[in-house]
Amino acid sequence: MLDLGIMDEVVKIQDELERTKTELGILYEISNAMRTTLKLDEILYIILTGVTAHIGLGFNRAVLFLVNEKEGLIEGKIGIGPESGEEANRIWTQIEQEAMDMDDLIGAYKASDHAVSTGFNKQVRHFKFPLNERNGGLLTLAALDGMPLHLTRETLQKYSLDPVVQSLKIEEAAVVPLKAKDKVNGIILADNLITKEPITKDDMRMLIMLANQAGLAIENSQLYEKTLILAHTDSLTELWNHGHFHNILQTEMEKARATRTPLTLLAIDIDDFKVYNDFFGHQAGDNILKKLALLLKKQSRKMDYVCRYGGEEFTVILPQTDKREAFLIAERLRENIQNQSFSREEVLPSKQLTVSLGLATFPGDGSTPSELITASDKMLYQAKKKGKNNTCYA
Ligand code: GH3
Ligand code: MG
Ligand code: MG
Repeated sequence: MLDLGIMDEVVKIQDELERTKTELGILYEISNAMRTTLKLDEILYIILTGVTAHIGLGFNRAVLFLVNEKEGLIEGKIGIGPESGEEANRIWTQIEQEAMDMDDLIGAYKASDHAVSTGFNKQVRHFKFPLNERNGGLLTLAALDGMPLHLTRETLQKYSLDPVVQSLKIEEAAVVPLKAKDKVNGIILADNLITKEPITKDDMRMLIMLANQAGLAIENSQLYEKTLILAHTDSLTELWNHGHFHNILQTEMEKARATRTPLTLLAIDIDDFKVYNDFFGHQAGDNILKKLALLLKKQSRKMDYVCRYGGEEFTVILPQTDKREAFLIAERLRENIQNQSFSREEVLPSKQLTVSLGLATFPGDGSTPSELITASDKMLYQAKKKGKNNTCYA
């Protein structure tokens, strides 16, 4: 007969084993999910789903912040969680009823065009805190310190005036830095606002383990996105390059077709640029291209895509823009370029640097990218024929 003490011990060890198995299973599933994508927004969503899903770590809500070294900021990127008890019940019941697992939750996110459109997420995305020591808020401390924090009712008193604590009405929370190569690149904040369930040592341990993987996954995805941008950028002008111009045009025309909105393509070519190059050499010419690219970029709207089509030719894709509006935009661009002074432009036949523009609009002037490009080219040719420094449209 085993004595009771030993039996207790065995049961305890069995329990612990069971729990560790579950925990490992959860971490395994989350880390597998993280490996299915390199897109940053999807990675962030997967991490927070892991933290909040009841088949994951099961926190009521969580926020993920990223460290933006360039601007010296800690920025809220995504928040998952209900704003009220009723909303929580609704969401949790739905998840349970539909027996959604990790894959389902992630699939639902990818299918919904990447928007986490809750009020909580919107609130979180406004958070921006300085990364310097003097302003030492809770997140700054976590980022600089790099140590996980379990904020209990008692320890929270020290931070009662902290903007994060106040605006999220935090009563108890876990704050865990995410790291890659010993550098903090983000922070997860998680709590149980609705159920008020205390955060246990096990919760903290799981969150820390998850954070270790999350930090690396975020770094990988940021590197990937940086590389992708580099591969799509023209090195001289830092505009989108020829290859990417075709990608964007294709995608934007598909969107325009689906939403039945117009789209206009501008083709831009410098007038008599050969003269300038013959006078001062290619390098001086390149400097003009750089300056012109900057001007085009500054003058365009956030939704427009400015590209270097090749040599001294540029294109601008104007989504949701009809011919009339595009013509006004094109003319304003043309006038601004004419009025801008460029180094030694007096050598040009017209004594100033000017451009000609051709304009073609989807769907009227072309229904495929190649048709639209041909149409805008034709109009550009016409603008040249009409004496340059003007805009022509079909
Ligand atoms: P047009 O008014 O008819 O456009 O006359 P153009 O001299 O500008 O002729 P075209 O548009 O055919 O431009 C070709 C010239 O542009 C040849 C070359 O001197 C210059 N060019 C083309 N690509 C580059 C480039 O990448 N860098 C520099 N510096 N010059 C270029
Ligand atoms: Mg040309
Ligand atoms: Mg030219």
